[in-house]
Amino acid sequence: MPIYEYHCGGCGREFEKYVPTAATAVACPHCESPRVKRRLSVVGVKTAASPMSAGSSMGGGGCCGCR
Ligand SMILES: [Zn+2]
Repeated sequence: MPIYEYHCGGCGREFEKYVPTAATAVACPHCESPRVKRRLSVVGVKTAASPMSAGSSMGGGGCCGCR
């Protein structure tokens, strides 16, 4: 189940909440305002953004990687 981050338009606080779907109505736990905006970041699924395969994968010209 994903955790979404929300920003409350009522009290201005941010909170995280488990929601089954993105269409679930969420109210602020602090002020109970329904004026919350879902933020883009989703906590829970962390994908490593392709770390360029440790640099020295091209050519093999041998400048300083291998001795
Ligand atoms: Zn609030």
